[in-house]
Amino acid sequence: MESSTRISVAIRMRPILKEEADQGQTNSKVFIDSAEKAIVVSSTDQKQQKKFFFDSVFDEITSQDELFSNTQIPELLKKVVQGFNATIFAYGQTGSGKTYTMEGYEYSSLKPNIKESERQGIVPRSVKALFEEIKAMPNTMEYTVYCTYLQVYQEKIYDLLNPAQLKPGSPGLKMRWSKHDEFYVENLYVHPCYNATEVLTHFHAGLKNKIMASHNLNSASSRSHCILSLNIEGVDIEGGGIISSKLQLVDLAGSERASLTGNEGLALKESIEINKSLFTLRQVITTLAGSREGDSAFIPYRDSKLTSLLKQSIGGNSFCLMIACLCPCDQFYEENISTLAYATKAS
Ligand code: ADP
Ligand code: MG
Repeated sequence: MESSTRISVAIRMRPILKEEADQGQTNSKVFIDSAEKAIVVSSTDQKQQKKFFFDSVFDEITSQDELFSNTQIPELLKKVVQGFNATIFAYGQTGSGKTYTMEGYEYSSLKPNIKESERQGIVPRSVKALFEEIKAMPNTMEYTVYCTYLQVYQEKIYDLLNPAQLKPGSPGLKMRWSKHDEFYVENLYVHPCYNATEVLTHFHAGLKNKIMASHNLNSASSRSHCILSLNIEGVDIEGGGIISSKLQLVDLAGSERASLTGNEGLALKESIEINKSLFTLRQVITTLAGSREGDSAFIPYRDSKLTSLLKQSIGGNSFCLMIACLCPCDQFYEENISTLAYATKAS
């Protein structure tokens, strides 16, 4: 059943930020055609145009709420409560809006300009909607949601819910392979939760720890992948049936090339690791997207920590949504083209 993953692709282009406008940056090449669900890209000499089509496209004035409601996410959460696995991830270069889109900046005093209603990203909205779906299930179903939140930095796994584990020199946590054909992380904190507030309390603690980790581990959060995982277990107390599924919400490291991030020392080492894991993720997704039911194409999950961790919720009978984020400024033309090229292959 490796081949039945359903992958949807959404594109979001963020607005030009005030500081970019102040520097005179403009967008003359990448346009959103909402009616056709397409992105129209002009060639560098502006003489030709190319159109890329997707499941949904969102322009720079799309609100967080509109994005959430008009993607496949509400549908996907229904599936999760019924026992299907799902992954939602944001892809794009640093600064393209991945964290804004996935996690939001609910508690960040570093971002005073964001309106209150726009602070919540997909994570808090999905957690609330998930528990609404649970409530809508028959009363005989009792659910527990097990929450973990981790960071993959330079191919090492750190627990964002365990501050003791985020100290300088920390070796990270070990990944193991279990009999159930899945990877798991040893000694990772797992919190059973019974409502959205409980999950979000852990999420917010993790966000704070992420800031601490970036100091302690000498990293920027844009150089690590963050995965909030929710294991959903439902028990039918009358019939005895069991539902078990996994939802993973992923804020990826930036996809920019080494040439943009510095070619020396730690920065170079970081970009090599980031590129390796994003390369593997692209291979995994394009193989899943390209294969048909019954195919048994080899899927290289084991080639990176990121894809190993996503295996269960991305392969097999899963639903996957990729949100490719674009920077509107002309200076990021090449990066946008490569993001769009990948997003096209995934869909
Ligand atoms: P990334 O995580 O891809 O590196 P961020 O999510 O941190 O990028 O976004 C970069 C900057 O752009 C931040 O200052 C963020 O507040 C702003 N931003 C991103 N997306 C939007 C949006 N849709 N509307 C308004 N501001 C945005
Ligand atoms: Mg980010």
